[in-house]
This record gives sequence, structure tokens and C-alpha cells, in this order.
Amino acid sequence: MCFQVRMTPHETSLTLEKTAETLRAAGLRMTKKRFGIIQALLEANSPLSLQDIQSRAEVHTSLRPDYATVFRTVGAMEKLGLVHKVSLQRSCTYYEISDPRKHYDHLVCRQCGQVVLIDIPCPIGEAEKTIARQYGFRELSHSLEFFGLCSTCP
Ligand SMILES: [Zn+2]
Ligand SMILES: [Zn+2]
Repeated sequence: MCFQVRMTPHETSLTLEKTAETLRAAGLRMTKKRFGIIQALLEANSPLSLQDIQSRAEVHTSLRPDYATVFRTVGAMEKLGLVHKVSLQRSCTYYEISDPRKHYDHLVCRQCGQVVLIDIPCPIGEAEKTIARQYGFRELSHSLEFFGLCSTCP
């Protein structure tokens, strides 16, 4: 079982319809279960494991998508840049909706598992430009995870 991630508020400007349209254009049939999966990701306040997505999709639509459907849908969304993986140094992978206008750096409490989206100008925005120039890469993105102990943990 995956560690349950605690919530912090997090807004995104991607919508259910926009996301569904991108998936449809990529050849995915948009079933009610798939809508539930997208909705689960859009409304999450922090990264979700595939099991989290499965159970939240069920809450939204009263239909439980099977694990393979969740896996394939999230995989397709990842390829299209609609979600990205968040590495929390845990045994399972967490996913988060990916808004191209935002960037996603996190603070993770080692003790209670709380994940906080860092809401300050990116600490390595300038370094990213230097790295891109130096290595001839374009359209860089990154996701940073800072691990520590939160203010409520001893
Ligand atoms: Zn904590
Ligand atoms: Zn950043």
C-alpha cells in the first residue's frame, strides 16, 4: 500500500474539457471512467499514486476504473505532458497534473509525508537557462523535491 499524501491547496488552470479534448485528439476513447480519472487528477491538492487515482475516480463517477485503465490513461496523459511524475523517494510513483504555465517544486516531510507545493519564484529558474545554453537543450523543465521535517513534526 502506498503512503497516503496529505493535502495542501493547489490550483490549476487546466480544465476537464481541455484535458479530455487533448486525449481524444490523441486517439483515446473518452469513457465516463476516464473522465473520472482526469477529474481525480485535476482536483487533487497533491501528488497521487495510481491507487489514489483509482479510488478518487470512483468517488467522482461511482464507477471504479480497473487498475489497467488507470495505468494506461495516466501513461497517455504523461506522454502528452498533461501529468508528470513526482519522485517522493517512496516505493510507488506519484503523479500530478501538469500545467505548462506553472512549475512544480515540492517540500516533502520525511516524518508525516505532507507534500507542499512551493509557491515562491523558482530557485533555479536562472540555472535552468544556463544549463540549457551550455548543453544545447531546449524547453527544459524540472521538478525539485526538498525533503525535511515540517513544523508540526517533532
Ligand atoms: Zn511532518
Ligand atoms: Zn522550480
